[in-house]
Amino acid sequence: MADSIGRTREEAAARDAADPLRDLAAQFVYSGDGLIYLDGNSLGRAPRVALVALRQAAEEEWAHGLIRSWPTWLDLPRQVGDEIGAAFLGARPGEVLVTDTTTVNLYRLLVAALDARPGRSVLVTDDGNFPTDRYLVEGLAHQRGLTVRRVPTDLDGGPDLDSLARAVDVDTAVVTLSHVAYRSGAVLDLAQVTELAHQAGALVVWDLSHSAGAVPVDLAAAGADLAAGCTYKHLCGGPGSPAYLYVRSDLQGQLTSPIWGWFGTRDLFAMGPRYEPAPDVRRFLGGSPPILALRCLQAAVRLLAGTGIAPLHAKATALGEFALDCAQAGLSQYGVALASPRAPADRGAQLTLRHPRAAQLVRELATAGVIADYREPERIRLGLSAATTRFTDVWDGLDRLRVLLAG
Ligand SMILES: *Cc1c(COP(=O)(O)O)cnc(C)c1O
Repeated sequence: MADSIGRTREEAAARDAADPLRDLAAQFVYSGDGLIYLDGNSLGRAPRVALVALRQAAEEEWAHGLIRSWPTWLDLPRQVGDEIGAAFLGARPGEVLVTDTTTVNLYRLLVAALDARPGRSVLVTDDGNFPTDRYLVEGLAHQRGLTVRRVPTDLDGGPDLDSLARAVDVDTAVVTLSHVAYRSGAVLDLAQVTELAHQAGALVVWDLSHSAGAVPVDLAAAGADLAAGCTYKHLCGGPGSPAYLYVRSDLQGQLTSPIWGWFGTRDLFAMGPRYEPAPDVRRFLGGSPPILALRCLQAAVRLLAGTGIAPLHAKATALGEFALDCAQAGLSQYGVALASPRAPADRGAQLTLRHPRAAQLVRELATAGVIADYREPERIRLGLSAATTRFTDVWDGLDRLRVLLAG
């Protein structure tokens, strides 16, 4: 039975013992109930240092410091932004902020980009993009009388680049896409898509929610314009932790945020009669930053940045290959098929499988102590968070899936 999914559990345990990220994994909370958690790409596990930082921020900076703490708090959105930007986005200092949610940040950036391309009436996205991204585009088109071009997406392979190239033309104001597809994990080429859009004079807004902390991202090298993404998945910032946004430095002075909040002004405490935007990325701030959440996130980011994206990506790749070997050897006879790109370089830190009874299987897995995600249609999504997923988690999860399928 041990080798019925191709690899033995002993082999998985040996891989864990030899894992260079073992010490990093030990920095996270494991509840001790034997839970097999393959969902770190929905909500990352809690780093112990983040819990300590959260408590310290509450007890010392808030409860004791009260308003006297503001001087150390004021620049946190930019400080944490720079830390994420340097470690995980390939951004230069002063290009990243941490504020609000991915949805709100995407909205800000989409509107700013549209306003920077007056006379152009087309928004381009792909029909497999994440729901919030598609709805934002739909809403903006509705509010402003614009047209949406939805590029057809292969559910497993991601958007088709030829169709994308055909959809982008002189009428296109903005192209918005996810770098790593949430369903299949398919990865787009940041530089290639950016170049394609720039040739038509359009701006690109990237969603990096499944990228930061999972795969290498180099926004500067790609010549990227604008990006946003969440921090509670691979960056382990905690439920609802604030999102980041990226604005390339030379664009900052040209773009106007649609939300004119007091934190986005040149001089917050001048409280002047009129809105005067900050000259830099801070113009994309709105109101008071979520300090407790920022402190929690900052500790998580520092922990992960201490390891760096290259080892994290290497581990995620190894987990993906191990999971794929197990699935092919042990699950394909039950009608389970790969629903992610085959080549590790073409997918993010996840492996998606397809089965007609996927929804039911994911429910049954949860009852059997294995947390994975169901995604429409017929997809079982296995999150392979490099920092916290063990090879034995993958083996146990897939072996329990095999037992469910065989029974
Ligand atoms: C998780 C995720 C989001 C989440 O947006 P919120 O505003 O934080 O709810 C957005 N886009 C993508 C691609 C995601 O995977």
